[in-house]
Amino acid sequence: MKKRDDFLSYGRQSIDEEDVEAVVETLRSSFLTQGPKIEEFERSVADYVGARYAVAFSNGTAALHGACQAAGITLGDEVITTPITFVATANAVLYCGGKPVFADIDEHTYNIDPEKIPEKITPKTKAIMPVDFTGQPVDLDAIMNIAAEHGLVVIEDGAHSLGADYKGRKVGAIADMTIFSFHPVKPVTTGEGGIITTNSEEYYKKLLSFRSHGIFKTPHAEEQGMWYYEMTELGYNYRMTDIQAALGVSQMKKLDQFVKRRRDIAALYYELLADIPGVILPKQLENTASGWHLYMIQLDRNIVKKPRKQIFNAMREMNIGVHVHYIPVYWHPYYQKLGYEKEICPKAEKWYEQALTLPIFPGMEMGDVKQVVNTLKHALL
Ligand SMILES: *Cc1c(COP(=O)(O)O)cnc(C)c1O
Repeated sequence: MKKRDDFLSYGRQSIDEEDVEAVVETLRSSFLTQGPKIEEFERSVADYVGARYAVAFSNGTAALHGACQAAGITLGDEVITTPITFVATANAVLYCGGKPVFADIDEHTYNIDPEKIPEKITPKTKAIMPVDFTGQPVDLDAIMNIAAEHGLVVIEDGAHSLGADYKGRKVGAIADMTIFSFHPVKPVTTGEGGIITTNSEEYYKKLLSFRSHGIFKTPHAEEQGMWYYEMTELGYNYRMTDIQAALGVSQMKKLDQFVKRRRDIAALYYELLADIPGVILPKQLENTASGWHLYMIQLDRNIVKKPRKQIFNAMREMNIGVHVHYIPVYWHPYYQKLGYEKEICPKAEKWYEQALTLPIFPGMEMGDVKQVVNTLKHALL
C-alpha cells in the first residue's frame, strides 16, 4: 500500500470564490454585526427547512443553550437524550441546571431508540433531545408521539442533519425546535455558528431576547425616549456576526449540491464495503434520507480480531483520517463526577467500542473513497 501524500481529513469545508466575495462585500459594508445579513441568513435557513422562524447564534452550542432556556428547562428538570453525541448536547441541559438522562441507542441506526424513552420518563421530565446522529434523522413521528402523550418539548439536535429528509420533509420544522451547527465540518459553514428553527412565535421571541442579553425594545420606549430599552430576562451575547451570516447565505445556495455529493460518496462506500467480512454498515430508516455528515461503520468483534486501535493507527499511518464519534457522554470524567454510572446504555457502549468514522465531505474524490476502502481492507488483514 502506498501512503497518501496529503492527510485525508474525516470532514472539511468547501469554500469557493463566491463565498469569499460574499464575506469581503460584508467587510466593506456598514454592518459587521447586527446588520441585514443575519435576517437574510435566518430567512434562507427557515425557508429551506420549511419553518416559520429561524434565530442565528454564535455557535451550535449557544443555540442548544438557547433552546433549553426557551423550553423552560430549569433546576432539577430532566431531559432525555442520547449518550452517542458530542458533549454539547447534554452540556446545554447542565447550563440550565437540568439533568441529562441517557436513553440507549438502536445499534443499527446509531440513533436514540424511541422504545427506550418511555421508561426514562419521570414527573421531572421536561423535554426530549434527540440527535440526528451522522445526519440520519431520528424517528421523529415516534418521538413526537411520546412527547405529546407526556406533555414534553422536543428539541432536536440537527447539528449533523441540515439537508436530511424525514418522510418527504426536510429536518427542521417537525420538532418544537431544531438546532443546526455551522462549524466547518458540518453540512454548511459560517466558521463558527448555529441556528434554531421553530414554528412557535413564543419560542422565537424568547430566543431573540436570550441571544442578546435578555434585552428588547418595549412599548415604553415611546414615552421614555428612543434610547430606551429594558432587560427583562437574564440573557447572553450569543449573536452571530454579519460576516459569518454573509458566508452562511452563500453556503446555503450550495447545500443541496453538498448533500447530493455526500449521498453519492455514501452510496459508493456501501457498494465497496458490502462484502468485507466483519464490517457492519449503517442502516437507514425507511422513508428517510441521511445528510451523511459522517459515514460510520462497526468492526464486528466476533470476526475482526485485531484491536480497533491497531486498525485505526494503521489507517492514520497511511494518511487516511479515520476517527471515532463519540465517546459515550457519561463516560467523561465530568459526568462521572456528577455520579453517572457506567453501563447505563449497554448498546451504546458496545457500539462505541466497535465504531469507526471514515472520511466523507463534498470535496472528496471517488478515488479517495476507493483508497479509504483499500486501506481498510489492508488494515483488517
Ligand atoms: C457540532 C455539534 C454541536 C455543537 O455545535 P458547535 O457549533 O460546534 O457549537 C452540537 N451537537 C452535535 C451533535 C454536534 O456535532
